[in-house]
Amino acid sequence: MNSQCTFEARLYDQYRAYQLMKRKLRTAMASKIIKNLRPTDLRNIYHAIHKKRPQSGMIPTIEAIPQARESFLYMALFASIYRSASRVSIKSALDLDAIIFAWDYFCTLFPNHIRERRPFGRIRPANFDEAWVIILAINNGFAEMGYCTTCHRNFLIIHGSKYLPVCQICAMDDIRRHESAQTKTRC
Ligand SMILES: [Zn+2]
Repeated sequence: MNSQCTFEARLYDQYRAYQLMKRKLRTAMASKIIKNLRPTDLRNIYHAIHKKRPQSGMIPTIEAIPQARESFLYMALFASIYRSASRVSIKSALDLDAIIFAWDYFCTLFPNHIRERRPFGRIRPANFDEAWVIILAINNGFAEMGYCTTCHRNFLIIHGSKYLPVCQICAMDDIRRHESAQTKTRC
């Protein structure tokens, strides 16, 4: 342990680790920001809270999260809450308190509707891992928030996604309009 790792810093990291483990963040992801605790310490905290071992396996990628166009609406909502709560520019730094606030608040908006594990529903992020991945992607430039001048809502773009980098609310409206025009032509 280096000399800069003071008792206070360790205590602060224990508090942050508790907040993250309580929300079931993968220990591999948490250990990237909790520098004063070992991965084993994080796993022990997780186990103490949930009485089971932390989840292992692949960390989700940002492109793989939305499997339906509607998911972008929820992801944009989550990102908007985070952006409003963050005390720093979301592209330049991570605001841990804001991430926690955004996730907790997002969960209160859809009580009993978020399917945390597979098969996932359309509401994404479905768990705190996904919430974390979205925020990291915005921070790293793999995803971006935009403002749609047509429907006047915030939207989320994921670079490299199978979905075009456009406002998905307007894209859904266009699809609906196109489908109803086709139905009328057929009638
Ligand atoms: Zn729009």
